Amino acid sequence: MSVEDVFSGGGGRYRRLSSVSAERADLFGGPNVVVPPRHLMASTEASEIALEMEMAKQHLDNDSSSLEGSPVAGSPVISPRDSVSTITTITTDEFALAFDIDGVLIRGGKPIPAAVEALKYINGENPHGIRVPYIFVTNGGGKTEEERCLDLSRQLDLEVSPGQFICGHTPMREMAEKYNTVLVVGGEGEKCRVVAEGYGFKDVVTPGDIIKTRHDTTPFRKLTEEEYSNSRELDFDKVRIDAIFVFADSRDWAGDQQIILDVLMSKNGSLLERSETFDEGPPIFFSHNDVVWSTSHEHSRIGMGALRASLEALYKAVTGKELQTVAFGKPQLGTYQFATRLLRQWRKNTHGIDKPPATVYFVGDTPESDIRGTNEFNEISDSNWYSILVKTGVYQEGTIPRYPPKKTCETVFDAVKFAIERELASKSDCITGAAERVPADDEDFRN
Ligand SMILES: [Mg+2]
Repeated sequence: MSVEDVFSGGGGRYRRLSSVSAERADLFGGPNVVVPPRHLMASTEASEIALEMEMAKQHLDNDSSSLEGSPVAGSPVISPRDSVSTITTITTDEFALAFDIDGVLIRGGKPIPAAVEALKYINGENPHGIRVPYIFVTNGGGKTEEERCLDLSRQLDLEVSPGQFICGHTPMREMAEKYNTVLVVGGEGEKCRVVAEGYGFKDVVTPGDIIKTRHDTTPFRKLTEEEYSNSRELDFDKVRIDAIFVFADSRDWAGDQQIILDVLMSKNGSLLERSETFDEGPPIFFSHNDVVWSTSHEHSRIGMGALRASLEALYKAVTGKELQTVAFGKPQLGTYQFATRLLRQWRKNTHGIDKPPATVYFVGDTPESDIRGTNEFNEISDSNWYSILVKTGVYQEGTIPRYPPKKTCETVFDAVKFAIERELASKSDCITGAAERVPADDEDFRN
């Protein structure tokens, strides 16, 4: 499928973005995310704790490490934590790192072994004594950012702050002002309702509420006791759903698709009234469009992008009309703009760096989202965004990725090592004017 006509709907103009493919212009199609939410900017308690722990750890490490002879990347910046501990590591202000999570750092709920080493490496445990600021940008979701950061901290044995973290639905908080009553789909139990209410959505309806109110909505899906007690009975005479948000992966495709379809086919979001023309329903937003993702299974599993494709096909089959949908997350360029601002704020608050990085290395496992988004954003960003594909997730060795990365590495550890060495080599070239070898970009996928 390709780009179709621009249309009006849901209070704004959106381009149709096919689940299968999209033109570059469509990457601008998602809602504009301009400023990260305030709480993500604030120095949170988690980041304070992180600093304390890092300082203590660094202090111990300093006794046994030496920097003699280590070249330095970028102009050294003494970060607040460096100034307290004795100065042995230098935080670079020249470059930064951004990581996808699933298939890069975590797989099947467990850390990929190279991930723990990689994060130690960029936190200064490397022969060069360099610390590199970094953020996490995942399409995953289904929990609050704070909760996900705690999980990640446990899994990776290092403190991760919400101030350095973006997940698929983070940008959806920007829509809380615009839509009053929303249907929120996906995730475990009530978690996504909690996330949505935390974002400021005033009236959050779940599929469970609709099933509790009309048990025959989904003939083959019965609520568990817990779901029944958590769900809220609705007054269908009054409920008008203004928008549908798929926050996280559906746990019940059949039931959720039935309910989404009912709402999409409604007249102005009322579950009691069907539209005769099937173009009077509310808009639907997905927190990302990854068709597959990496789990502990040896083959990729289908994800939210697959649900989206399925719904589009279903809508067409039932109504004869095209379904207009919008996705957030990578590769949408709004997500990268959001990441840029988050990174700027993180570098400033945590490392005292008040300038944009010359280069951001983005490490991901999915060519269609991580690599594509990074490459496209590189074309419009003031910084260089450099894509690195790792082989620990969705990408399978031996296949040719549709969106080629600048570099392919076995693991995230190889990726961070490559990034630091590439920076050091280019710095050394600048100083000496000599043709010292800069680690090469990927030639494998060049035409
Ligand atoms: Mg991934």
